[in-house]
Amino acid sequence: MARFQTIKGMRDFLPKDAEKLRYVRNTAMEIARLYSFEEIITPVVEHYDLLTAKSGEEIKARMYSFEDLGGRKVALRPEFTASIARLMATSLRNEPKPLKLYSSGTLYRYDEPQFGRYREFWQSNFEIIGSNKPEADAEIIILTDHFMKKLGLSKYLFKIGHVGIMRGLLSQEGADDEQQNRIMQLLDAKRWKEALATSRDFGVSEKSIDVMKHILETKGEDPSKVLPRVEDQLRGCAGSLAATENLQEILGLCRKGGADFEVLVEAGFARGLEYYTGMIFEILVPEMNISIGGGGRYDKLVELFGGEPTPSVGVAHGLDRTALAMENQKAAPRIMKKTVSVIPVNEDAVPKALETALRLRKSGIAADVEVMRRTVSRALQDADRRKSAYALILGPKEIKEGKLTLRDLKEHKQYLISLDEAVRKLLQKK
Ligand code: AMP
Repeated sequence: MARFQTIKGMRDFLPKDAEKLRYVRNTAMEIARLYSFEEIITPVVEHYDLLTAKSGEEIKARMYSFEDLGGRKVALRPEFTASIARLMATSLRNEPKPLKLYSSGTLYRYDEPQFGRYREFWQSNFEIIGSNKPEADAEIIILTDHFMKKLGLSKYLFKIGHVGIMRGLLSQEGADDEQQNRIMQLLDAKRWKEALATSRDFGVSEKSIDVMKHILETKGEDPSKVLPRVEDQLRGCAGSLAATENLQEILGLCRKGGADFEVLVEAGFARGLEYYTGMIFEILVPEMNISIGGGGRYDKLVELFGGEPTPSVGVAHGLDRTALAMENQKAAPRIMKKTVSVIPVNEDAVPKALETALRLRKSGIAADVEVMRRTVSRALQDADRRKSAYALILGPKEIKEGKLTLRDLKEHKQYLISLDEAVRKLLQKK
């Protein structure tokens, strides 16, 4: 057995996997450009206190934390939002709103490794900071749907809810924030019975426990049917009704804004991160039983970190899992691979081969120059294996005539032409 292996939950990305991940990341970056988000890059290592301040018990228990050599208690980031809230309370405090920020990189959680679950994983993260309007929520959902469609995914749905529905009722019953967080954590873990028992312990009335049970069972694909049912159950609870109305408005804006996606509205939906204050959602791939992204509104977080009151909404896409879903749904990355293999026939032709490869690269054409001094036929076999589209062969005859042989490896044709002509031809075929 080899002496060294990767640590449990950590992976190497060999070229094929790295290429897929890069494609998903590049597409996320393209979405950032199309929706006018600016990129920020924050450190992987942050203060433990920052990362644990509002992430919730579930994530806190699974953090990679340690003391650095300076005696600071630090941790590897398990999410991006805490770092962004830190920036909003410091360097970006006085920036004009809305701020639209995009980040992507690796995150670390001591999760139990399984299919689609790793201890180091990739996310792209989008936040709209400074707007409390439903159109900001809608933009986050619309861009997520666009991202998935751009990658060629078709079988996914948005599970969506609003934490204000449950919290509104619990507030009315006198449960404080801490108590509400505890109940929401249990709901997130689907420990419904315990959530109801805990609510009872916190003094929630039997009547409201009954309403909670109903809310937990209220779900469906058509918001115009599900949400009125929620409203019926919550007559008299202003907070919950405002939440339902807000959710209705957000989904209405998505539809009227031209986005077309499957929805599952769940009135009792809760998510792990405890800082959510409004709409929350996850993107599910039912056939694989995984979630490839999640997000929601968090209006109090920046304030909690010492910034101005800053309503915000965001989403994190799990890029590794998105790549897995693409594989499963046979959504092939549209990667243009038109590499040209440049092959010198002998040692004398090597300088010309290097010069030719540089010229191609400067024209934007990917070139792979032969560096093993193999025979032309061996080098061509290798070009085939590497799936090069063309070979440029340079020998004494070609060099003397100021030409080269351009061989189309797919159509098995070849031309004796000048470098200028070859570049023109290759650019046309790109
Ligand atoms: P969260 O930050 O918990 O809202 O998660 C957002 C998305 O990140 C999820 O929908 C997953 O796609 C992805 N994700 C979360 N945890 C992991 C993990 N341990 N491994 C791979 N992807 C993950």
